[in-house]
Amino acid sequence: MRLSRYFLPVLKETPSEAQIASHRLMLRAGMIKQASAGIYSWLPLGYKVLRNIERIVHEEQVRAGHIPMLMPTLQSADLWRESGRYEDYGAEMLRVTDRHERDMLYGPTNEELITDIFRSHVGSYKDLPLTLYHVQWKFRDEVRPRFGVMRGREFYMKDGYNFDLTEAAAKHAYNRHLVSYLRTYERMGLQAIPMKAEGGPIGGDYTHEFLVLADTGESEVYYDSEITDLRFGDRDIDYDDENACQAVLDEFTARYARTDDTHDETVFHDRVPEARRRRARGIEVGQIFYFGTKYSEPMGATVQGPDGKTVPVHMGSHGIGVSRLVGAIIEASHDDKGIVWPEGVTPFHVGLVNLKQGDAEADKACDGLYRDIVELGLEPLYDDRDERAGGKFATMDLVGLPWRITVGPRGLRNGVIELTCRRTGATEELSPEKALAKLAAVYSPHHPVKRVEPMAKRSFHTWL
Ligand code: ATP
Ligand code: MG
Repeated sequence: MRLSRYFLPVLKETPSEAQIASHRLMLRAGMIKQASAGIYSWLPLGYKVLRNIERIVHEEQVRAGHIPMLMPTLQSADLWRESGRYEDYGAEMLRVTDRHERDMLYGPTNEELITDIFRSHVGSYKDLPLTLYHVQWKFRDEVRPRFGVMRGREFYMKDGYNFDLTEAAAKHAYNRHLVSYLRTYERMGLQAIPMKAEGGPIGGDYTHEFLVLADTGESEVYYDSEITDLRFGDRDIDYDDENACQAVLDEFTARYARTDDTHDETVFHDRVPEARRRRARGIEVGQIFYFGTKYSEPMGATVQGPDGKTVPVHMGSHGIGVSRLVGAIIEASHDDKGIVWPEGVTPFHVGLVNLKQGDAEADKACDGLYRDIVELGLEPLYDDRDERAGGKFATMDLVGLPWRITVGPRGLRNGVIELTCRRTGATEELSPEKALAKLAAVYSPHHPVKRVEPMAKRSFHTWL
């Protein structure tokens, strides 16, 4: 993309309404614009990041064998009356009436809708296990929407639902989700720690929240500092292998890590030596639940088991805060100049800065590099505006692309360009070929073909 043809409305001033870094930076970098309280338009740069996060979520869900679909945002109140949640949900639910006086609502979550789909089409244990999910906008009329997209009223969420014959099978689905979530967050450059949590209005007491540690987080958390040393890495877990998935859950939940809802000071002191006890703040970026037959029983979502008996299915639901993650990633990765995107989610892979726009040699070199970068399967953002170098650098630093190539007449005379790492600030003078080789290497773990290939081999459909 050439910046002169893009829409990147960066702000010079720091917006006064933003209290935390991610909100400030998203506004300044022209990623979002508030439409009304807790509701945002996603401007082109923000939209690209949102889609990248969504894509990783899809890829990892599909890798785990879960099946994507799409349910609507507006739902019929009748379904929620069946589960008993229409009255229970309270003021957070946005209720609307259509022209025929029918009660509708903007879905805050989808347990009822998916259970209705399930009961209409599935009747036998032979169709299980089944996990369906979608990524869709949700609405919760939060009392205090704040921190930009972190606590919106309208927000984008992945929610998945497993249907299983037995509790044991549903626990395996739970473990599968835990494993896939660990992979998902790490691909976004985040460490999200599973912590024992409480069910809330979804219900169920078997649940973990995933938290990204950050001073600006809204949750209070207590944990054993050893847990921050754990990494999922690039393990290749077979999601059908119950023991392998259970082992990952055991490993990642063995140490004390709880939100304040479930925190127990006595247990904390008994289990964790003082030097390792931590109390901190965290951002909830996901949650997994097993809730048994809470929805399947009242809504009649049953299957015929192998013994011919009809039984309600065991269910769980599993959410990832896709739009909140954009803010959470920035909270975890920024400096005083701006955002520092992890390679996995960056809106453009490399910034290209022409120090002397209009200089025939510099323009030609930039055009060539642009083509070569695209040839590598990467997307450059080329600042081709006729602006001073300082202004161009400031914009690149603000929008936070992990790598920047700087091209100027002086370097070109010596056959070199500059490659700068946003995170460390380190700059190398390299030949264009070497710079391109380095970019190719850095991005190879994030390359689409490599990501999709293993799924195709395992005979899963791909999302793309
Ligand atoms: P919270 O405790 O932060 O209100 P929740 O526990 O009610 O969230 P869940 O029902 O677990 O939310 O939804 C799954 C995920 O959706 C959460 O882990 C979070 O990342 C995201 N999410 C929930 N509410 C919001 C919101 N108002 N704005 C943005 N993301 C949200
Ligand atoms: Mg939650």
